[in-house]
Amino acid sequence: GQCVSVCPTGALAETNDSPKVWRALNNPDKHVIVQVAPAVRAAIGEEFGYEPGTILTGKVVSGLKRLGFDQIFDTNFGADLTIIEEATELVDRIQNNKTLPMLTSCCPAWVQFIEHQFPELLDVPSSCKSPHEMVGILAKTYYAKEKNLDPKDIVMVSIMPCTAKKAEAAREELNKDGISDVDYVLTTRELARMFKEASIDFKKLPEGEFDQLLGESTGAAAIFGTTGGVIEAATRTAYEMITGKELKEVTFEQFRGLEGIREAKVQIGDLELNIGIAHGLGNARKILEDIRDGKSHFHAIEIMACPGGCIGGGGQPYHHGHTDILLKRQQALYDLDKSMPRRKSHENEMVLKLYKDFLEKPGSHIAHELLHTSYSAKERI
Ligand code: SF4
Repeated sequence: GQCVSVCPTGALAETNDSPKVWRALNNPDKHVIVQVAPAVRAAIGEEFGYEPGTILTGKVVSGLKRLGFDQIFDTNFGADLTIIEEATELVDRIQNNKTLPMLTSCCPAWVQFIEHQFPELLDVPSSCKSPHEMVGILAKTYYAKEKNLDPKDIVMVSIMPCTAKKAEAAREELNKDGISDVDYVLTTRELARMFKEASIDFKKLPEGEFDQLLGESTGAAAIFGTTGGVIEAATRTAYEMITGKELKEVTFEQFRGLEGIREAKVQIGDLELNIGIAHGLGNARKILEDIRDGKSHFHAIEIMACPGGCIGGGGQPYHHGHTDILLKRQQALYDLDKSMPRRKSHENEMVLKLYKDFLEKPGSHIAHELLHTSYSAKERI
C-alpha cells in the first residue's frame, strides 16, 4: 500500500526479492549486473561483527563476484553523474530565474511524500533521477551498446540502504518501453543474508574492485550517504561551474552535523548561495510548508527522509536509535571522501568519458531522456 511505500523505515512490509535474484543468477541467458549504494559500504560490516563505520567496499565487491554477478558497478558513479546533472540544473534555474529553491531528488521516500502531501510544489524537486536509476538505465543503454548486449537480457540489481528504493524502482516513470532502469532492489541486510546463505566467509574475502564502465567515483559521491553530503557535493561542482575558478577548499563544515534542520551560506562569486538541509520527514514538512507559504529564502535544499540520511536507512543493519552508530558511519564516509584522489564529481574521468562518448554534455537532450524524470500528484494519504 501507499502508506508502506512512504514509510522510510519500511518496517511494515519488506518484499525480499533475493529469491528472484538467485533465479536470475542461475539463468545462463541473463547478464546480471549489480550496483552498491554509498551508505551500504559503511554499515554492512556490522552484520559480520565489524565495528560500525568500517568501510568494506572491496570485500563487498568480491562477495558479489562470488555470488555470480557478471558486472559489479558502483552507485557512486551514478552519484557523481547526478551531481553534474543537478548542478547544471541549479545553475540554469538561478541564472535564468526559474523555480527556486531546487530540492534534491535522490531520496524516493520524500519524493513520494511531496507527491502525496504537497502536489502544488512538484516543480521544486530537481528532475534528476536518483543515482542507482541512472546507473541502471546506463547499464541498459551505454554499457549494453559497448558489449553488444540486448537490454532485455540484462538484469539490474541495486544494493541499497533503503526500503523505499523498492517502490521507486517500480515507478511507472522509471519503467519505460518495456525496460526497467532497475529490476530488483535488495537492502544491505538482505545482501548480508545472501552472503550467509551462500556460505561466504565475509571476513576472509579479498579486496575486489568495481568494473568499468560504471565503476569509478570521487569523494563527492562517497558523502551521498550522509545528511548534508549531496548538497556539499553539488556545491563543489556548482562553484566551479559558476565561477570558472578552482575550488581549493572542498570541505564545507557548515553543511555537516546531525541537526534536523540546518542552514548554511556559501559565497560563490557574486552570489551568496543559501542552502537548507533537512532529514526526517517531520523536518521536511516544515521546510516544504515554508516554500508553499512563500517564506523560504533558499536556493537549494537537501532532504533525506531517514534520520542521518541513508546511513540510517531502513534497510541498513539495525542501529536501534543509537546516534553513536550513525555518527561512526557518517565519519567513515567523510574519511573516505578525504582519502580519495579526486573529490569533485566533475573530475570523475569515467563520467567525463561517458559524456564524450554517449551523453554529449550535461543537460543535453539525451541526458534528459535517460537521466531525468517527472513527478505527479498522487492520492492524498
Ligand atoms: Fe532511502 Fe536514503 Fe531516503 Fe532513507 S534517506 S528513504 S535510505 S534514500
